This record gives sequence, C-alpha cells and structure tokens, in this order.
Amino acid sequence: MNRLAGLEPAQVFTYFEEISRIPHGSGDTERISSYVESVLKANHLRYVRDEANNIIAWKDAAAGYENAPVVMLQGHLDMVNEKTTQSTHDFSRDPLELFVDGDEIGAKDTTLGGDDGIAVAYMLAILTDPSLAHPALECVFTVDEEIGLLGANVLDLSSCQAKYLINLDSEDEGIFLCGCAGGIREDLMLPIRKEEMEADFWKITIDNCHGGHSGMDIGKGRCNALLMAGRLLFDLEESGISYRLAVCEGGQKDNAIPRSSMLIVATEKDSEDSTLIADNVRYLFDGYKKEYLVSDPDMTVTVEETDAVPVMDLVSQIKVLFLLRMLPAGVQAMSQNIPGLVETSLNTGIMKTNEDCFTVSQSIRSNVNARKYELVNKLAFLVEYLGGEAGTRGDYPGWEFNPDSTLRVLMAETWKEMTGKDAAIEAIHAGLECGIISEKMPGIDIVSMGPDMKDIHTPTERLGISSTRRCYEFLLEVLKRIQN
Ligand SMILES: [Zn+2]
Repeated sequence: MNRLAGLEPAQVFTYFEEISRIPHGSGDTERISSYVESVLKANHLRYVRDEANNIIAWKDAAAGYENAPVVMLQGHLDMVNEKTTQSTHDFSRDPLELFVDGDEIGAKDTTLGGDDGIAVAYMLAILTDPSLAHPALECVFTVDEEIGLLGANVLDLSSCQAKYLINLDSEDEGIFLCGCAGGIREDLMLPIRKEEMEADFWKITIDNCHGGHSGMDIGKGRCNALLMAGRLLFDLEESGISYRLAVCEGGQKDNAIPRSSMLIVATEKDSEDSTLIADNVRYLFDGYKKEYLVSDPDMTVTVEETDAVPVMDLVSQIKVLFLLRMLPAGVQAMSQNIPGLVETSLNTGIMKTNEDCFTVSQSIRSNVNARKYELVNKLAFLVEYLGGEAGTRGDYPGWEFNPDSTLRVLMAETWKEMTGKDAAIEAIHAGLECGIISEKMPGIDIVSMGPDMKDIHTPTERLGISSTRRCYEFLLEVLKRIQN
C-alpha cells in the first residue's frame, strides 16, 4: 500500500516510500545501497559503489550546460533507528509504517528517516528525470554519517570534479548552512599515587543536570557535572573541611555534556569534619543551584557514608584539584562571521580515577581549524606541567565559512526571488560531512540545505510535505541557474 500516493513531487515521494520499506539504520546499509544501485542500473547511469557501500553516481549535463561547472549533490543513506518503548518494530527486518498527518509525514512508533532519506529521494528523482535542465552532476550517497561520518571519511573523491556542492542534510527550510565545526578528542592523563587510610568515607553524587550535545548545546551555559564536582571539592576545602580525595568520576561520552558525577572523599575518623561535611556540601550546592536555576533546575546532590577505599596522596590530590579548576571549559570564542555562533569550545566529557592515574576526556570543536589545535596544545601544556600526558584521537576537519562563496549568493538570491523571503545564512557548531568533503576537494564551494524536519533522531520525527516540494523546486531552479 502506498501511503504517500498523490503527494507532490510524485517521484520524490515514491522514492522516499520505497526507501522506507528497506531497513537502513547506521551500520546496516548493504540493502539500501543495493537498492540505489538497482535504480542507477535501470536508468543506465554511471556509478561506483565502494566497499563501505558509499555510492557516487554521475549524470551528464543537459543540453546547453556542457560548459557549466560540475555540481555535486550529497546526502547520507543511513538513518538513526529509534522507537518508542512499547514498539515491537524490528529495525533489521520491518518496513517503516508511514503515515500522513496534515502537512507532515511520520512513521508509527519509529524514526522516519527523513534525515537523510529525503536527500536520497531528491537525488534519485533528479538522476532519473531526463527532462531537467542542469550542469553535469555528481551525486554522492554516503553511509554511517550518524555514527561518526564513517562513510565520508573513507570516500574516494579522486574521480570527482565538482566546483559546487549542495549538501542535503539540513532540516530547516530557508536556512542555508555555510560552515560547520571540526573536532578532535583529547585525553589527559595524570599519574597519581594512592594509600590506605583509616577514616570516615563519603560518597557525594551530583545528578540530574540537564546535559546535552557537546557542540550544539555548549553555548547554553548548562552545568557540567564533572567540572562542578571539581568546584565543589575546591570550595569544600575553602569552607574549612579537611578531606582526602579517593575517587572523582563520571560521564559516559565525551561528546555529551555530563549529567552526573561521583566523588568519594575521606575525613578523619569521628572528627568535626565528619560531622560537618554533608551540611557543607549541601550549603555550597544550594549556592550553585541559584546560578543554574534556568539551565539546570533539577540538579541534585546527595551525600552518604560509604566503604573505605584507597585515597590519593596529598601531592596527587592537589594536582587533580588544580587540573579540575584550571581546565578551560565551554565556549572559548564566538564567530566573527556569523553572529551568535559558537566558534571554538570544549566539553569535559569523561573522568575516571584509576589505580595509578586520573584521566579526563575532552571533546574540542572549532569552526576554524587552527583554533582547535591551539586549544589542544593549551590543554597538553597544562597537564604536562603537572607531570601528566596528553593524547589526541578522532580528528576531523571543519568546514570554514567562505566569505566569497558564489553558490551561497546564487542560492540566497534565488530563494528571495522564489519566496519573497530572505534566506538565513547560518553555520553550526557540530560536525557535518561537508567538513570532510571540503578537505578532500580543496576550494569546493558548499551550501547545505533541506526541507523542514522536526524531532529528528526520535520516534516523533516529522517531514514537512509542502516544504519538501518547495525545497525540491528551489533545488531544481538553482541547478538550472548554475551556468558558470
Ligand atoms: Zn543527517
């Protein structure tokens, strides 16, 4: 049954519905890639499919466009598989159950995969429609964008010649993305020594902070539960409590703002410090709560007695405290090109206290590549000064804003003409495949666009129907106007 029958543009929604019948979660892209391949074959289009299941397809220039610059269109094949808790949907086997709700499409109890199935549908519709006017096209279908831009990373673009790239992985009609952040992970390691101690032991838990995405939400001033633990330790000492630190840990992913943290500290047995510590912690925390009333209204602290564990020696403790207090955190610079955009930031995501070392994992982002490395070096200097070590991993490039973009001007003008509205030019403080492609094809002029979507990556994901049509007509008009 075709639930999207009758919706326009018909080819786009037909392909979108066919895609929805084929399981295509991240890491499970063999079948969707074969489907795209079958469409290309049936239409006698030239393409390559690599081992990762990425596909590049070529379509010749329409008559009159032989001398126009080559244009790349690009989107990702994989979707995020999420379902409601009561859903029995099997993502490895079952087709999505699409439904139309007013001007929107959704899928019953699951993600819809509009992100980024709509790009796949757009590209297949364009590739298979011989009536369109456009320059030579290179259509790139990547895999596993949602789990770390894996397809784009291994993509071989050496046979591509595009001067322009229109990426189709944005979710807001009329907003054109013109930059994204690059990122890198940095792990700091501080050697520590531990010793046994006869004492009272306390477990302090900070919990229910708001959390969020370490890039998109970093400018919202939310509490980082790990750094808050460091501040609490520091202030506790200032408040006159003498303690020894045994454990400081928390966080699960370095790209999420940590929502909770856990400390274990020891105070001298049956001392005044033992009597006062819980009250002092709560008093200090009440003060912090006032600072975070808007961003983290639910944050909590609990103090309970716990079993004895080895504590850090005093030198180790001072170094850990120094590191926790001196770590740069959050927004480091705002963009000079795009008002309101965070340009450089870092998120302390994971901390662990091991037998002989204390480790901290950071996610560093910048829309300006050089700034990212500046921050990496600063953190390394800090931890090395304390006798520790720093290492990096997962480095990926950003897509820097291009003040001279011809494509952006053409798209903004076309949008204004077609809708009467000004296009919004934005950039995001998170990674996109455009960053990787811009590094592989130096000088390529990129804009990212897409129709309205809501709640992507959740079972309430929706795709706008009329928005899909307007954005498709706009995309065709832009292609028609690219003559040089
Ligand atoms: Zn996406």
